[in-house]
Amino acid sequence: MKILLLMLILSLAHSGASKAQTLQFSERLKFEREEIEYELKRDLDSLYTQINRGAISGDLLCQENLRLHMSVLGSIASTQHEDPEKQDNSYPATVINLYPIDDSEYLVQIAFMSAETAGPEAIKLLFSLTAKRGDHGHFRFACPLRHRTRYWKQTEVGKITYHHSGPLNVKRAEIFDRKNREIAEKMSLEAEHFDFYMSLDYQQINRLLGYDFEQGSISKYRNGYGVDANHIFAIMNNEDFSHDVFHYYSGQIYERKNRNWITEEGIAYLWGNAYWTDPAGEMIEQNDLLADLDQLMKTNPDQTPTKIFEENTKAFSPLAPEVSARSTISALICQEVEQQHGIEGVLKMISCGRVPNNIDPYMATIKDLLGITEENFNQKVRELLDKQLALKRR
Ligand SMILES: [Zn+2]
Repeated sequence: MKILLLMLILSLAHSGASKAQTLQFSERLKFEREEIEYELKRDLDSLYTQINRGAISGDLLCQENLRLHMSVLGSIASTQHEDPEKQDNSYPATVINLYPIDDSEYLVQIAFMSAETAGPEAIKLLFSLTAKRGDHGHFRFACPLRHRTRYWKQTEVGKITYHHSGPLNVKRAEIFDRKNREIAEKMSLEAEHFDFYMSLDYQQINRLLGYDFEQGSISKYRNGYGVDANHIFAIMNNEDFSHDVFHYYSGQIYERKNRNWITEEGIAYLWGNAYWTDPAGEMIEQNDLLADLDQLMKTNPDQTPTKIFEENTKAFSPLAPEVSARSTISALICQEVEQQHGIEGVLKMISCGRVPNNIDPYMATIKDLLGITEENFNQKVRELLDKQLALKRR
């Protein structure tokens, strides 16, 4: 049955290849009424045209949570426009499934298929969206987040609304709520409200947003997603998303091109956490990584701080393969900057830029602020690590 369906999709995609700009419809789709078929096909085709043009306007979308729908559909639109060299590089798309989910509301699944490739590689994206029929027979589309979480519970923890299908770890949620306020305050910003969805893994996040299958996400599962339109999706079902919330607030103050990414990671580790969860599902904190950094440097004499910085060494901690030894060192340095120069010093570090690369302006700024030079870098980092290890032991 599955193979038959795949063949059907493939043949539909191929038949649509010559006129890729028109949305195709599987002949198996059943509509309740003829007028609904006409209106829905008309409006879906307009949406597909916008996607292929690479510009989504809000007029076809559901107004509730509009920013999120714009962002999700906008990212499909930009993937359709990946290669500006090609005149028409958009993948032919076919509506392969459609059924009612509520009064005048439907779930629509669209397959974006490569016209040139065969087999499973041809499936680029299977995307679902909801279509609600409003007055005058016009449909409004939305990503299926609300529909797919309709039986989830909601719990308010400070400024965060948690959406969860299983139990919520309130202690962790309170830590995140506190960090959200603290980070915003340090950056002289108003702490924002977030809708926080407790997703089990990255594949579930994709499905909640409508990406039933996405070729670029095959086998990816440890990441979270956000902050997007004040929506957050958990990293491996953990309530603390403070690492990326720091990046988010920093992005409110500075343009991306002016931010130094070694500082950003250091501060995110220090004020938030190391982004990844440990084998027990707990968020890894900067303090948890000090002993592993110590171990790395002691057992591998060639792994000097200078080398770790240049190579951006990872896989040094048994807690998670993704955590970075360079970011752990950067967090130590940023911690010292904050202690000696306060938030002003930290902001100087963040905004020192990345020309010609991230390392040079970073080194120039810590020379200014802490007297750390290329010559004494290894020794100074060792001292900062010993200082924090001693504090931790107390
Ligand atoms: Zn980060």
